Amino acid sequence: MNTFVRRAALGCVLGAAVLMACGTPEAPRATAPGSAAPPSRPPTLAPGPGGLTPVFRRAGRAHGKVVALTFDADMTAGQGARAAAGERFDNPRLIRTLRRLEVPATVFMTGRWAEEYPRQARAIGRDPLFEVANHSYSHHAFTEDCYGLPRLPVARMRADVERAFAAFRRAGVARPMPYFRFPGGCYDRRALRALGATGVTAVQWDVVSGDAFATDARAVVAEVLGGVRPGSVVVMHCTRSAAPVTERALRTIVPELRERGYRFVKVSELI
Ligand SMILES: [Zn+2]
Repeated sequence: MNTFVRRAALGCVLGAAVLMACGTPEAPRATAPGSAAPPSRPPTLAPGPGGLTPVFRRAGRAHGKVVALTFDADMTAGQGARAAAGERFDNPRLIRTLRRLEVPATVFMTGRWAEEYPRQARAIGRDPLFEVANHSYSHHAFTEDCYGLPRLPVARMRADVERAFAAFRRAGVARPMPYFRFPGGCYDRRALRALGATGVTAVQWDVVSGDAFATDARAVVAEVLGGVRPGSVVVMHCTRSAAPVTERALRTIVPELRERGYRFVKVSELI
């Protein structure tokens, strides 16, 4: 897809997502210190009315000058032949750069990606610098119209999310986080209802990096630096073929945000 169209479309997703905001993103579940919940249980938001999956977009200013970089590891269920032909949906250099710069990050992985790159999935999942979260198994659409992605029937939505968790376990990701990012960021009430029983918190974003199909790292840098404010969630990609300049952009973004006093955190620290 044409870069401009894709980036404009991502902006539309963000706009639509704001309009469809659901749940109480800035009111975490009341888990008082010393409560019965085991300390290792990752924080989630309370479900919305009727058990709707809650949606988190960014943290309040009370969290201070922190920012969460999130990376979608995209591969759809139909892209196996392209991977076999040599297309790379992974981005090991990006992961190396995050490690070298000591940047904590949350990786929203599709189950299909974990099947294609099990060693990388396991290494990311076992590195305390990172956390692995769910980006569906198939990367199919959870709404009628989502960038032309194949549509997932409502009756199969929950199974698709659970299939991704199963793929993570098979790859050796010990403790994937109960966070879910909708493919394309597209969701509606039916999708939120369909996933209610999975117990996940949906995680959107407030800063679109524009790295999907970008060819100019400087443009990505400008989008991120212009958009980040305290508590922001930035969406980027860990998929070389579809986001080839992300790693280069990070080499500027990370020191510049640190210079401005920001600390990088994982999504679990913001929720
Ligand atoms: Zn995606």
